Amino acid sequence: MPELPEVETIKNGLSILKGQSITKLNILSTHCLRPNHNRFHSLRGQVVTNISRRGKLLIIHLSSGNFLIFHLKMTGKLILADFQDILDKHTHLEFFFKSNRLFFNDVRKFGFVCLFSKQELLEWNFWRTLGPEPFKISSIDFAQQISKSKANIKSLLLNQKIIAGIGNIYADESLFISKIHPLSKANKIPFNILQNLHKNLIFVLKKAISLGGSSFKDYVNSLGKRGNFQDHFFVYSRAGKSCYKCKNTLKKIKVAGRTTIVCLKCQKRYE
Ligand SMILES: [Zn+2]
Repeated sequence: MPELPEVETIKNGLSILKGQSITKLNILSTHCLRPNHNRFHSLRGQVVTNISRRGKLLIIHLSSGNFLIFHLKMTGKLILADFQDILDKHTHLEFFFKSNRLFFNDVRKFGFVCLFSKQELLEWNFWRTLGPEPFKISSIDFAQQISKSKANIKSLLLNQKIIAGIGNIYADESLFISKIHPLSKANKIPFNILQNLHKNLIFVLKKAISLGGSSFKDYVNSLGKRGNFQDHFFVYSRAGKSCYKCKNTLKKIKVAGRTTIVCLKCQKRYE
C-alpha cells in the first residue's frame, strides 16, 4: 500500500497539472466513486488550483472550491499518460487535460475517489478523525500521545487516528532503528525512547521521499517509475535474512494482523 512517502512522491509528480483544466473525464468503472458517479460529470472545465497530501490521501483542489480525493489503498496508481500509456482493464478513470492525461488504475479495486465540497470534506468521518501529520507534531507531543496507550507500539503507529500516513514499511523500519520491539506496550516505553522514535520516523520518511518511495510490490510514481527506498530496508521484507547490525536472523511475527519483521537481539520488548 502506498504510504506517506509514496503519496508525497505522486503529489510532487502531479504538480505539472496545476493551472490546467480538465477538458474531459472518461469513467470506465463507477465502483470507486464517492458519493456517487453522477457528480463526477461536473469535473469538466474545472481547473486544478493545487495538489496536496494528508496522510495517505492525495487531494486535488479544484477551481469550483471542491476537492477530488484519492485513496490508493492496496494497488491504486495515478499515472500521467504522456509518459506511459497504460489504459487497460484495470483503468477506472481517465482525466484529459490540455497537455496531459491522468489515469487512475487499480488492480485490487480497494482504492476510491471522492468528489467533495469543502463542507462535505470537513464532515467526512475519515478526514475528521485523521491524526496529525508526522512532520507537524513535535517529538514531545508524539511521545505524550503514544504513552497514554497500553496498546502495542506498532498498532499505534499504524492507527491513522493516532498519526497519519504510516503503514507497515515505515512502522517496521522506524521501530528497528529505534531498537523497539513492535509488540512493546506503548505506556511501558521510556519517554525519551518515544521521542527518539518520532525523530527516527521523520528520518525514515524524509529519506524515503528523497528516494521516491518504496517499490516493494506494485508502487510506481506518477511517471510510472519505481522508487528506490526498498534498497535501504533494514528489516521490511527481510525475514530469515541476517540483521545488518548484529547478524542475528530476522524473525517474522504478526502484529495487529500484519506481517512484522523484527530483530530479537536489537529490538527491546518493553512490557
Ligand atoms: Zn540485530
